[in-house]
Formats: sequence, structure tokens, C-alpha cells
Amino acid sequence: MRALLVSDIHGNLQALQAVLEAARGPLVGGYDQLWNLGDMVGYGARPNEVLDLLRPLATINVRGNHDRVCAGLTSTEGFNPVAAAAAIWTQRQLTPDNLEWLRNVPQGPIRATERAVCAHGSPLHEDQYIESMRDAWMPLQLMETEITFFGHTHVQGAFSRHDQEWEEVHPRYSVLGGLWRSRVQRFVMEVPPGSRYLINPGSVGQPRDYDWRAAFAVYDDAAEQVTFHRVAYDVKAAQAAIRAARLPERLAARLSTGS
Ligand code: ZN
Repeated sequence: MRALLVSDIHGNLQALQAVLEAARGPLVGGYDQLWNLGDMVGYGARPNEVLDLLRPLATINVRGNHDRVCAGLTSTEGFNPVAAAAAIWTQRQLTPDNLEWLRNVPQGPIRATERAVCAHGSPLHEDQYIESMRDAWMPLQLMETEITFFGHTHVQGAFSRHDQEWEEVHPRYSVLGGLWRSRVQRFVMEVPPGSRYLINPGSVGQPRDYDWRAAFAVYDDAAEQVTFHRVAYDVKAAQAAIRAARLPERLAARLSTGS
């Protein structure tokens, strides 16, 4: 079984389209299930189109903090002014059907397989940021499965623990399909049994690891591998949509730098 892992799409339709196209294509090799780790909306200018595309494809959905606020389940308290403005705009844009669906997306962690769960922030708390080994330490001790897939930080990579060995994984990409032609890059991480792993596929729609390309991952449970991918997308079109919607300029500008 191959699961396509997507997180933090944030209303960026162009990035989601590029990820789905790449994932179906020969360079990635297709997938059997789609696991969505949350923050589908908020920030980007195409929330309804993203949900319309994602809903029929997703096998697992976990709510993110932006989904919760955009659905009106919690207030914008704790959001910075840019995030709050985008959440209020998004809530007004959502169709009644998408709003109702978003309200009912469950909180993580959600069991995906015998070995793996899906969460937004951490397996211990949906809003916890896992940015460093210090943050990862407690979840790696206490999580109930060997693997947690998570998002929320918008940084692609992983933390793992095998006995007393702790490792932080940063993808070092190799090029697929010829150096000058390829739009897709990948990095393979082995996930053999007997260790614990916190794995972040990165953000589809608003990467913050200084790489503007859309991030995603594929988990192959039979091969015991997670492959991290990056794919170029039409960032100018995503920015133009944000500007046309009169959302804060910072939300458009940051997409070119991945910051
Ligand atoms: Zn997010």
C-alpha cells in the first residue's frame, strides 16, 4: 500500500494540483490512499477549490488549527493579524457544504495502519509544534505507534529514535528524470520496524523551509520507506489569486521564498 501524504495545503490550489499530478505520474509512481494531515485552508485564495478537489480523494483527514478557526469552531485568538484576517476571509468564502464538512473533520491522531497514525501538530496535542529534537523527544517516548505522520511546522523532514540513538532527518534531494528536465526531486528514508519515527511530509501550499516548491511524501508500507518529494508549481498564479482577493501581501510574497 502506498499512501500519498499531504499537509498544510492552505488554500493553494496551484500547489495541490502540481502535487496530485506529480504523484500520479511515472516519476512518483502513483498511490493507493491519500492521507491529509490538516490545514487545508487559511492563507491561500482558493479554499473551496482545494476542498472540492481533496474531499473525494482523501482516505484520511485530520483537522488543523486553521481548519478549526476557518470553520468557526474556535476564535482567531492566538493567531497573528495576517493569519486572523485570512481565516475570517476564508470563513466568508466557504460554501455551506464545505463549511459543514470542515466542521466535522476529526482531531488527530487518527490510526492509519497498525504501525502509523496521522496527526496535525503532534501525536500528543494537535497544536504542538515539533520543530526540533527537543520538541520531538516527548512524543517519540510516548506515542503508541512506531510512526506518526505530522505537519503544522511546514518543514519537511523527520525525527527518529532507536534505543538511545536519536536522529534528525533533513532531505537531501536527488533529481528524477534527468537533471535539466526534472520538475520533481526526491529523498528516500528507510523506516524499518523497531524504531520510532515522527515524519513531516512538509507543506503543499506554504513551505517554510526556504524551498518554495510544493512538498509532499509517499509512504510505502511494504517497502518500509518514506519518500520525500518537492515539485515546482505555478507560484505566480497562486500569488496573483491572493492579491486579487485582497488578502495581506505578505501571504503572496512569502510563497516565492518558502519562508
Ligand atoms: Zn499550517
